Amino acid sequence: MPDNPTPNNKPPILWAQTLMFVITLAIALIAVPWYGFTTGYHWSQWLGFVFILGANGISITAGYHRLWAHNAYKAHPVLRMFYALFGAAAFQNSILIWASGHRRHHRHVDHIDHDPYSAKKGLWFSHIGWMIRDYPAGRDDFSNARDLQRDKIVMWQHNHYMAIALAMNFIPAMLVGWACGDVWGGILLAGVLRLVVSHHTTFFINSLAHFWGRQPYTDENSARDNDILALFTYGEGYHNYHHIFQNDYRNGIRWWHFDPTKWLIKLCSWVGLAWDLKKIPDFKIQRAIVAMQFKRAEEKLKHAKSIDVSAVSEFLEHEYQQFAASLQEWKLLSQQAYSDKCQQLVESKELLQQKWAEVSLKSRFKELEYTLKMQAQRLRVLTLELQAATA
Ligand SMILES: [Zn+2]
Ligand SMILES: [Zn+2]
Repeated sequence: MPDNPTPNNKPPILWAQTLMFVITLAIALIAVPWYGFTTGYHWSQWLGFVFILGANGISITAGYHRLWAHNAYKAHPVLRMFYALFGAAAFQNSILIWASGHRRHHRHVDHIDHDPYSAKKGLWFSHIGWMIRDYPAGRDDFSNARDLQRDKIVMWQHNHYMAIALAMNFIPAMLVGWACGDVWGGILLAGVLRLVVSHHTTFFINSLAHFWGRQPYTDENSARDNDILALFTYGEGYHNYHHIFQNDYRNGIRWWHFDPTKWLIKLCSWVGLAWDLKKIPDFKIQRAIVAMQFKRAEEKLKHAKSIDVSAVSEFLEHEYQQFAASLQEWKLLSQQAYSDKCQQLVESKELLQQKWAEVSLKSRFKELEYTLKMQAQRLRVLTLELQAATA
């Protein structure tokens, strides 16, 4: 089989996966509503559907994705076991296969041959097409996941994946049905419909989150931020941010961003189930925003008519110098903060003096963040004006 499939010479279909997608979708579209009309569902079966769906989704986003693929925090074995069990119920392969494929996606994002679910190959391919044929980029390669191969829970789940996935798909759904006195209703709602909804909402992250939305941090790749998608994907809709700062335990960084995965991780850290939560400093986030706005303003300036181009160029040049100065000062401050910390470790200074130095450094960091925020606002206004001048 050739390693570079062409549209006329596609790799063979993976029948087991394909049949699973087709049969479960057909049952969800035909048998689930038919059973609802003829027999009806109990409200507690719907409750079971919502609970198991949530447990699946969050195990993929907080476990498979942010914990194992990105090491964005550390988690207690109890939490890791929960993710391993309910993540298997989502039928998206073992943690090891999923996380190593996802690391390849970040490393080679948008590359036609190396990104397993490259958005450059279209919406269908990045949503589900990549899983139903034996594409070379989708094959197992754990060379980027040696750390995961040392995780006992990951390897236990990987070695017994099919048994765990089947058990976690049938047992909770049957229990829901049995508790309501209607096992078939439980299997249809909390089993099949839940699996289909769980599949496609997660797949949206690879497909729609690379096509639909804004790019405030970078346009070097196709990833987008999208508030609507965040609602269906447990907060993973802030995908433009995620692709530039993949190790942050958050995807939605503002308090108003809908990111239940972030909230769960934070909650777990308060009760000792999670620790070492990684967070990108605000300054670096602002730096990305400002750099992106410079890029946008310069692009708009090229096409702007009815505007004093030299005055705008001069304004941009002045802003750029201020930006470069802020970056330089931030670098020096970071070095100073680091050396102060090292010194404090070797010699015990006066407590008051230490505190004063810390507060003064912190306030200078805050001032710098504020400078960048203001600069971002000025550039936003300028880009809007240039946009108007282009029209
Ligand atoms: Zn992505
Ligand atoms: Zn990721």
